[in-house]
Amino acid sequence: MNAPRPKHAELTQFAVVDDVLQVGGIALTRLAERIGHTPFYAYDRASLTARVALLREHLPPEIHLHYAMKANPMPAVVQHMASLVDGIDIASGGELRVALDTPMDPGLISFAGPGKSDADLSCAVAAGVVLNMESEAEMERLALVGKRLGITPKVAIRVNPDFELKSSGMKMGGGPKQFGVDAERVPEMLARLGQLELAFQGFHIYSGSQNLKAASLQDAHEKTFALAIRLAQHAPSPVLTLNIGGGFGIPYFPGEERLDLAAVGVNLKRLLPDVQRALPGARIDIELGRYLVAEAGVYVSRVIERKVSRGQVYLVTDGGLHHHLAASGNFGQVIRKNYPVVVGNRVRGGERETASVVGPLCTPLDLLADQMDLARADVGDLVVVLQSGAYGLSASPGGFLSHPAALEALV
Ligand SMILES: *Cc1c(COP(=O)(O)O)cnc(C)c1O
Repeated sequence: MNAPRPKHAELTQFAVVDDVLQVGGIALTRLAERIGHTPFYAYDRASLTARVALLREHLPPEIHLHYAMKANPMPAVVQHMASLVDGIDIASGGELRVALDTPMDPGLISFAGPGKSDADLSCAVAAGVVLNMESEAEMERLALVGKRLGITPKVAIRVNPDFELKSSGMKMGGGPKQFGVDAERVPEMLARLGQLELAFQGFHIYSGSQNLKAASLQDAHEKTFALAIRLAQHAPSPVLTLNIGGGFGIPYFPGEERLDLAAVGVNLKRLLPDVQRALPGARIDIELGRYLVAEAGVYVSRVIERKVSRGQVYLVTDGGLHHHLAASGNFGQVIRKNYPVVVGNRVRGGERETASVVGPLCTPLDLLADQMDLARADVGDLVVVLQSGAYGLSASPGGFLSHPAALEALV
């Protein structure tokens, strides 16, 4: 008898053929042989492409789509995304180098993040990317860098808005924040900007992340446009770009429902005419990370041992939190919940059982699945964590416990 399975928003991005998960159109068992080593992350190229197409279908054509590459900085992924989107958002000097290796026009790459070093600023100015300034102090340093290089830096102001993105997994605007310049200080900053040798591009207003509620995003979009229009009255020159942030979430846990993308698109379409009237010629960008890549990725580890402790089954695998901190529940989560997990080479399986999936680290935090309903797995089987294309390998403490690194493949 198959136990009832916990309900996730239906995950249909990967086919299952003969009970084996297909990633990148390849049976997982064969893909594991091809890669030649577990654990690994695999990213499905066609899913990435399809996700961008879905956004294009629902968002007005006037909205430009940027990839926030901190979600997944694997160079092959960034190259592929660069061929699909209208810009890349970076947040470090390392990300800058990867982004500059793509064919993306540097003028469509924008660099946010607090604490940029003078070296970061120089590289970015020399490359011709747009700097989203996080403070007045950064603006003064940028002007000096520009003078030294004899290049006028392209700058936007990252605004810490005077509102919050409601029901967000992670709030990054509103109240006191290390990000951006408080909205009420921006008029004064714009006056100073006008005195410096800086090419003003516009505003970057990012309020939060991992939001599944269309109504919250609609509310944030309305307030973001209103704020930008208000601030633009103080700008030394017309607003050329307005980055309205992103924050589109994906379902990770049982009971979570997909974001109603159509509703977000309809609302943007409604708001656009007023913005276009107030800021004629301004390009409007949305920046998305996880929404573009998370569902296209899987993390795959192999069962090393089946262990029963006082009646509970533990599948001990060669993968764990050192590669996938988020799935272990330790990446900023308040309450640990299971990511969707399946046994990739027997998805439905014959017998089913309740099992926990753990890694090889000597800490109880190393838990990939806590008492989940899974197909009965044996040594050698492949355990798959779904929804793993964002904040996976690069967001995990790879050095912790000195186990081998995971591989990554774009398939
Ligand atoms: C992290 C971040 C993003 C991406 O967030 P997602 O939740 O992955 O979409 C976008 N913009 C900025 C400024 C960020 O810091």
